[in-house]
Parts: sequence; structure tokens; C-alpha cells
Amino acid sequence: MNKVNNMIKENSDLKGELSGLMELVKENEAKHAGFKAVEFAFLLADSLKEVIEKPLRYLEDIFGVDRAVLFINADELDFDREENNLGYRIYFMPEGVFKTFFLEKRPYNSDNALNLISEFNVYEDMGSYIFAPLVQNDKIIGSINLYSRDESKFGGEVATNFIKDLASIASVSMQKLYNTELIYRQTRTDFMTGAYNKLAMGEFLERFMAKYKRHDQGFIFILMDIDNFKQINDSAGHLTGDTIIKEISDEIAEGLRSSDILGRFGGDEFFMIVPYANIDNVFVLVERLQDIGKQVFGAYGFGDVASLSGGVVSVPGDISKDDTTEDIVRLADGRLYHSKKNGKGFFTGV
Ligand code: GH3
Ligand code: MG
Repeated sequence: MNKVNNMIKENSDLKGELSGLMELVKENEAKHAGFKAVEFAFLLADSLKEVIEKPLRYLEDIFGVDRAVLFINADELDFDREENNLGYRIYFMPEGVFKTFFLEKRPYNSDNALNLISEFNVYEDMGSYIFAPLVQNDKIIGSINLYSRDESKFGGEVATNFIKDLASIASVSMQKLYNTELIYRQTRTDFMTGAYNKLAMGEFLERFMAKYKRHDQGFIFILMDIDNFKQINDSAGHLTGDTIIKEISDEIAEGLRSSDILGRFGGDEFFMIVPYANIDNVFVLVERLQDIGKQVFGAYGFGDVASLSGGVVSVPGDISKDDTTEDIVRLADGRLYHSKKNGKGFFTGV
């Protein structure tokens, strides 16, 4: 009888254990599925905005983390951005921060929030946190940081495997996004001057034209060309010619506001797109361009030879909402040609 009782008891213990195990398996499966969702969201994201909206938010929702944040090493991944804090979820930090945090390129966790709060003010209610470095080619390109209000969540001894996996996926994702941005930038940049190129010009004109059509925000488009540039090449050589083209571009770029566009149309020809909101007086703007020409050509002994000719188009004024961006370029080109045919050294359309 005792034997039977024992067997029954063992059986029910086993059952209990088994159902406990099943619960664990289910829980793990759910976690596993959640983890996959975060990983896929990282890998599929095609912008930093999407990284904020999907994987970082999923992390918070699925894993019950109060704040999931990415730090990006701004010296390694210098993404184009307006601010160093994107949506309170992505923070750009100088390289030194990562060297201080991750002496050993390993995740670390703590429930001692004091230092971090005073230094970065990322999450005020922090009770505990775990940070993991994002490593690419032996360099720390950022970190993924999970914060909890609960001191016990990441305090003391915690398993770090899950965050290591997460960090390697996030690292691949960030590097991929940055590489894509670099390619995008390179294909729109004139490599000699660093200014925009003709491909970028077309895209910017479309964007400015759309803004004009929707919000009546006007702008001016300028095409300009160096006068008698061949003579500079012939007497001073092509390398000096190159340097002069670059200096003209640099000098003009120096006085621009962030929403002004400067690019190289090709050869010795440049374009500018300037929102009306940034212009006090078109005449003064053109005078500034002429002065830059005088100064740079003069510095190389070509003050009497070279100057700048241009064609200026105002939107609206010269262009209606039915016109296309090609119409703008055609009109500016015609006006530039007019300046060339009528003595050079001035801008038509001002
Ligand atoms: P114009 O006054 O009518 O503008 O005549 P120009 O002598 O300036 O000659 P044009 O604008 O018709 O042609 C531009 C010349 O610039 C042709 C080419 O030899 C030279 N050029 C084009 N690209 C480069 C470049 O990248 N570097 C150098 N050094 N010269 C260039
Ligand atoms: Mg020329």
C-alpha cells in the first residue's frame, strides 16, 4: 500500500514538475518570439527613425524595460542629423564616452545610477541598468542601454547572453544604416569640392518646388560660371585650376545658412538654391559672390582675367506653379548665357 501511495505521490510530483517545465517552455518560447521580433525589426529598419519606432519600442514593450536607448559613437558613425538626441532614444556621444564605459568591450550592469544620471540625464527614474557595447571590426560604434525603474531588474548578477546577442544584431543594423547613408551622400557629392552635384541638384529642386507649390515658400536658383577659366588652366596649369575651383566653392559655402544649397553643376560651373526666407536682398547676395570671385582670382594673379557670370531665377516671380524644375534650369542657363554674351562678369535676372 505504501509503495502504491509513494508511486502516486511521485507521479503527481512529476506531473507538477512537468507542468512547471511546460510553463517555462511556453514562457521561453514567448520570450524567444519576442526576441526574434526585436532582431528582425533591427535588421529591417531603414532609418534611425524606424529604429526608434520599432526595435527600441518593442524592447520596452516585450521585455518590460522602462527605457531602451542606443548610444552612437559620433566619431565612428557620423550620421547626418540636426540634433544629438533623437526622440530621447538615440543619443550621439563622442568616442571618449565609450572608452570610459567599456574598458573590456563587455556588457555591464548596475543598480548604482548616480554617476550615469549626473553625466547623461538619459533616464531620471532609473533604478538599474544594463549596457552592452556595439562592436564592429574591434571598434565600439555605440551601445545598447536598457534602463529599469526596478533596482532588482538589472542589479546584481544577471545573465548577459541575451543582451550580447541583441548588441551584435544592433551593431550590424547601425553599421548597415550608416553605410547606406554614406553611399547616398557620396553619390550626391562632387568629390573635388565636397559641394553637392547635379544629381542632388535635381532632387533639391524638386523638393523646393514642392514646398513652393504646397506652402508658397519661394526660393532663388542661381547658375554661375567662371569667366575665361581656360586661360587660368593654360597659364597656371590644371592643378592650380582645380585649387581655384575648390576655393571658390569653399568661400561661398562659408557664408551659407544650413538650408542654402551649393553645388557644382560641372566643370567651372556652380549652382545655388537659396530659400527666400534666408535672403535679405538678392542684389547683396550676388555682390557677395562677385567679391569672392575677385578675392580668389586676385590671390592667384588672375584678377584681371577671371570673374563670375551668372543667371538668377526667382520662384515665384519668374516661375509659376505649372512650370517644372527643368524650366527653372533652362531659364537660369539662358540668363547665364546672356551674361556671357554681353561682356561677362555680371549676373542676369537679379
Ligand atoms: P567662358 O568665359 O565662356 O566661361 O570660358 P571658359 O574659358 O571659362 O571656358 P568654359 O566655361 O567654356 O569651359 C570650362 C573649362 O574649364 C573647360 C575645361 O578645360 C575646364 N575645366 C572643366 N573642369 C575642370 C576641372 O575639374 N579642373 C580644371 N582645372 N579645369 C576644368
Ligand atoms: Mg567658364
